[in-house]
Amino acid sequence: MVVSRRDFLRSSLGLGTGTALGSLVGLGTDLTPAMARAQELRIRNAQATPSVCPYCSVGCATLVHTVDGEIVNIEGDPRSPHNEGTLCPKGAAIYQLHQNPNRMTQVLHRAPGATEWEVWDLERAMDRVAELVKETRDETFLEQLPDGTRVNQTTAIFALGGATLDNEWNHMQQKLMRGLGVVPIENQARI
Ligand code: SF4
Repeated sequence: MVVSRRDFLRSSLGLGTGTALGSLVGLGTDLTPAMARAQELRIRNAQATPSVCPYCSVGCATLVHTVDGEIVNIEGDPRSPHNEGTLCPKGAAIYQLHQNPNRMTQVLHRAPGATEWEVWDLERAMDRVAELVKETRDETFLEQLPDGTRVNQTTAIFALGGATLDNEWNHMQQKLMRGLGVVPIENQARI
């Protein structure tokens, strides 16, 4: 199909898509082969490793493509019986979990009332968290309700896990939090 510049511009305005891609599709151009070719080039010579999307309990199967140990692409695994190669928008962005220049790699601390963030080393941050957890628990731990019911709890601490944490970490987190008497223990994937 021959697309003139005038057709292209008219289609852009008429469809209101504002994108060259939308315009070409609007003009009836089949982009499937070109897109398939671009995808093929992206993963050429890459090693495909089966994995699972970490974001929610649906557990969609993925294929992680790597070249020289570097992730170059992540997509749904078409062999999976429940997601059949598809991923939701969140899952489709898993690549950015690994390759992302905006990902934080240092601990930032902003003291109460401060306007600037300060870089802390991990040891210092972990010590501070442990100190505050102990202090809060000691101050708020309740062994019994007024009617004598034993509760052994603190309601002053809330635990929120991330969706990308693994089973082992979650198991340890449960043990630690229950041991401290924490009642609300949640996970980002359920929120
Ligand atoms: S976040 Fe989306 S892609 Fe990932 S497991 Fe859940 S439904 Fe599947």
